[in-house]
Amino acid sequence: MEEILLLLQKHFYMVSAKDLENYYYEGLSIKNACHITVDDGDISVYSYLFPLIKKYKIPISIYVSPYAVETGKNFWFQEIKNFDMKQLLNFLAVQKGEEIPFVGDHQVYAILKSMKVKEINSLIEAYKRAFNIPDGERVGMNLDQLMELKASGLVSIGAHTLHHPILKNENDDITRKEILQSVQDLGDLLHEEIKYFAYPNGLPGLDFGEREINLLKEAKIRLAFSTESRHFSLRDNPLSIPRRGVTKGGSTFVLAKLAFGDYWENMKKLLKGKQEKDFRYQ
Ligand SMILES: [Zn+2]
Repeated sequence: MEEILLLLQKHFYMVSAKDLENYYYEGLSIKNACHITVDDGDISVYSYLFPLIKKYKIPISIYVSPYAVETGKNFWFQEIKNFDMKQLLNFLAVQKGEEIPFVGDHQVYAILKSMKVKEINSLIEAYKRAFNIPDGERVGMNLDQLMELKASGLVSIGAHTLHHPILKNENDDITRKEILQSVQDLGDLLHEEIKYFAYPNGLPGLDFGEREINLLKEAKIRLAFSTESRHFSLRDNPLSIPRRGVTKGGSTFVLAKLAFGDYWENMKKLLKGKQEKDFRYQ
């Protein structure tokens, strides 16, 4: 992580979420800029990333669920992280009375991402009961830790729904609640107005659309981040700002990925074949 931060700092002008807001709305000119965002509020943000951004004075923004912060409950994908995915798929197949041949872990995630979050969570609970698996240990930050991040002045905190649903799969009432209540409740917890948001999973069209963008406007959100992989520019809708994922690999890999820019996604398809999203059904 330290290597990657140093590399980013060397090649880019590191800006805050507030700078980005001014860029999109106030005509602030920034060139060759990079803003770091981290979704899901994992404890590693507090343990590993926070000391480093303090050391190098790098502003970041993070996206969390007030429900997860308050209850300590893991998101569904965190809860199944150590599950045997083939067994989970078989369990789902039996429940549905269908045959679903196992292709790989990414296929199972894709199938879950085609379901409503309530169905996903019931499936996980039933599976845990059936195989005697205890609740997973908390992986998310608590309120004290978030408050410490906020007090540093380096971390902006935005909302990321309540239960991490794929918003497109949910009905109007649930989508409204997941967005508006997450913004409201997080604001209450942090005693501030929440202005930023990241869509769960974040692929435009597949995970969110016009309905979600309109709800964010209603919630007075100024910037919202997708996971569409390209550079950001003034051509973006500030409620659908693209990002590049640098979750995996060392600093050389990250540099190559950023340098190849928009060619990267095409290369990835050539090298790795089917992506998780190819297994989604609507
Ligand atoms: Zn997320």
